[in-house]
Amino acid sequence: MSSTDSVVDGVRRLSPTGISILVVGGGVGGMMTALESWRQGHDVRILERNPKLDTIGDCLGILPPGWSTLRFFPKMKEQFERESYDVEFSFWRYEGRLIEHRGEAEWNYPGAVHSAKDVRVPWMETRSSIANMLTQQCERLGIKVEYGNTAVSYDENENEAIVTIAKLDGTTAKETADIIVAADGVATTSHEHVTGRKVRAESSGYALYRGLIPMDLLKSKLSAATQEKFFSSPRGDFRIYMATDRHANIIITRDFVCYAITYKEDGHSKESWRAAVSADDVLKRLNETPGWDPELVDIISLIPEKSCVDWTLLWRDPQPQWASKGGRVVQLGDSAHSFLPTSGNGATQALEDALSLATCLRLAGKGKEQTATKVHNALRFERVSTIQKTGFANRRLMHHIDLDAAEAHPELITMTLPAWIWTHDPVEYAKENYAAAEAHVTNGAPFKNTNGPPGVTYEPWDIASEMGKETLST
Ligand SMILES: Cc1cc2nc3c(=O)[nH]c(=O)nc-3n(C[C@H](O)[C@H](O)[C@H](O)COP(=O)(O)OP(=O)(O)OC[C@H]3O[C@@H](n4cnc5c(N)ncnc54)[C@H](O)[C@@H]3O)c2cc1C
Repeated sequence: MSSTDSVVDGVRRLSPTGISILVVGGGVGGMMTALESWRQGHDVRILERNPKLDTIGDCLGILPPGWSTLRFFPKMKEQFERESYDVEFSFWRYEGRLIEHRGEAEWNYPGAVHSAKDVRVPWMETRSSIANMLTQQCERLGIKVEYGNTAVSYDENENEAIVTIAKLDGTTAKETADIIVAADGVATTSHEHVTGRKVRAESSGYALYRGLIPMDLLKSKLSAATQEKFFSSPRGDFRIYMATDRHANIIITRDFVCYAITYKEDGHSKESWRAAVSADDVLKRLNETPGWDPELVDIISLIPEKSCVDWTLLWRDPQPQWASKGGRVVQLGDSAHSFLPTSGNGATQALEDALSLATCLRLAGKGKEQTATKVHNALRFERVSTIQKTGFANRRLMHHIDLDAAEAHPELITMTLPAWIWTHDPVEYAKENYAAAEAHVTNGAPFKNTNGPPGVTYEPWDIASEMGKETLST
């Protein structure tokens, strides 16, 4: 520990860098950016649109790379391990027959080494638990989260980044910092400044019914047989039920059943966490494919009023430029790259961005922040874009697999969550590759990323090519 390091709440903070960072958006990505920036010695504040902490949402799966630095935050790590759900994974036919029990996540197999050192990373957490955990850690470190601040536009000059904020009382204000991080989600207003154009959101052809049913609403109303079938596993289950052109993720824990049912959309759903529909709507949709597991249907029929989100799965083509031309504004998480849920990576990649960006800024040091954001962008884009594509591949697989063949040969279910995804440590990667990537960014020296699939050279792609494959396979 150097003489200028300090310790707060058991977290060691590296010596101050003098770099000021303003994070816009207090979601999962924004909060982790603030925490890791604090740990790396930067000065950081968060501006959030909501008037107070919003814990709406259901289940989130976050892979080990997102927790690569969790061991440095001992109280937060303890909370994470206490509140996560160490469920076991399995594939099912939609009629209710088990195809294969896979159990542990691969990164927890005996002998596997993942990037979240000293942390047990289970399959599942809830968004409310993660949001509380990150917010409480910010509070304990003295990081200010300023609620009721909506970013309207971004700008910069040679000396500072600028964001115009609309306040709850109707006034506007300008806030400045060395670096502004636009972590304001899929509807970010940063594109005009960062890329010079609006990014179009297009339909991916599907929508999702999702929500939680608390256990106290379920247990007393279900038959003994249903209870036995769904609630007898001591660890709980993460089940994927597959049918033609739709699938259901059902997560069964000691506290709730979480459901996420992907279906072909017909224009009714919205990209909003507040677009609620009733249990009857969900049942009607399920019954379009006759023969769903009647006991699962019993559970779905107990969805509480106004609790089911009907979320349209929109898509934005991968766009490679996350840092503005001047380098002082940088997009992070969903604002830079949105994910289909079938990639299982939206929150993970937002957290990876956070860890990478804070590290690059420390490696660059005060005065070279504008280069750091571009180096971070160069280190991350190809990896993220490659993982985005897995969402399409996984969905195609689940929606078009021959269930009889899969029952006979479960190895045909080749979901894409390979080791190169969950062994990656974004902090170490940034440290090892910063100098070479900086030479690439500043004077065009050759540089090849090694954080993607081994032996594969990145090929740009877009939604039109992926949707074309979808049509071919129907
Ligand atoms: C309310 C909500 C519920 C969610 N629930 C789930 C879930 O159950 N399961 C799941 O897999 N994923 C969920 N997600 C999405 C998931 O959290 C993200 O896809 C992922 O974690 C990436 O995080 P992010 O920080 O980039 O974006 P987000 O988590 O979307 O965070 C963006 C943040 O920016 C704030 N914001 C937006 N616009 C502005 C603005 N103009 N100015 C200031 N602040 C702004 C938002 O209020 C939000 O806090 C949810 C997101 C939200 C916002």
